[in-house]
Amino acid sequence: MANTAIGVDLGGSHVMAALVDDAGAIVARQGYDIEDHSPDIVVKLMEDAIRAVLATTKEKSVAGIGVGSPGNIDVATGAVRYSPNFGWHDVPLGEQLRAGFTGIPVFVGNDARCATLGEYTHGCGRGTANFALLTLGTGIGGGIVAEGMLVLGAMAGAGEFGHHQIRATDGFICGCGKIGCFEAQASGTGLIRHAITLAPSFPRSTLVSGKPEKLGSKAIRKAAEAGDQHALAAWSRYLDDLARGVANVIAFVNPEMIALGGGVASAGDFMLSGLRPRVEELTTMVPRGHTKLVVAELGNDAGAIGAATMARRGGLTTSGS
Ligand SMILES: [Zn+2]
Repeated sequence: MANTAIGVDLGGSHVMAALVDDAGAIVARQGYDIEDHSPDIVVKLMEDAIRAVLATTKEKSVAGIGVGSPGNIDVATGAVRYSPNFGWHDVPLGEQLRAGFTGIPVFVGNDARCATLGEYTHGCGRGTANFALLTLGTGIGGGIVAEGMLVLGAMAGAGEFGHHQIRATDGFICGCGKIGCFEAQASGTGLIRHAITLAPSFPRSTLVSGKPEKLGSKAIRKAAEAGDQHALAAWSRYLDDLARGVANVIAFVNPEMIALGGGVASAGDFMLSGLRPRVEELTTMVPRGHTKLVVAELGNDAGAIGAATMARRGGLTTSGS
């Protein structure tokens, strides 16, 4: 068996292909920005990135190509059934890539499930049997490992923590159409919305005075860390909502560890120290203090490393080398 596999992380604005060795280390990478979400254009960028990293290996072949894509995936064929971020319906991603790379097995899985497999196999989840990952980016993705098995569910939709409603009557409108989804409240975008909502109470604050599309959650997080009152108020509401969702995950699947990834989680201890007591307060049916809350270890590489692991194992599974 070849020692390396290709892992592709398909994000909303960037695609990255990586050559990953059997220890989960990235040995080569190539990325491109995505400006047009038409399937043909995105597939072409993916193929270019894959060819660029394939050209760096001296091995005759790779074990396979794994792609982590947003949306709901038909894991048998590699088709993207539905991706709201991309506006895709029934895009035969796996089939198109197989046509471009004859002889190399191609697998497609949800990006957050791939990241979960990556963290579980090569990151902070090593040694656990019951593990969950939450990725806090522009949206919220997730994945569950229960009793050592990555849980996919009947239609590969298990782990979509982002779309359970935590404020169904007074929340923000979610991209999926519902009100107060965990993603709408506690993603990076949610943090920006909290700051905008609170702006009238801080008339002298310039925190959200720019154009809404230019606002980033990072600036708000950094301002909160620096003690800005407006940012701290938004951060506090944000943590309240994040804690609701995290406590629900504990109630649903009782993991021994929940890892938080994505941009917001780079706040590290500043986030965890505020989050832990809030989660404790909302944890009722599981003994408090028994779920480790940590920042994920592999950062932005988790998706590509997990996708390569999927390719090596012939599917989104925790079993195999
Ligand atoms: Zn939603």
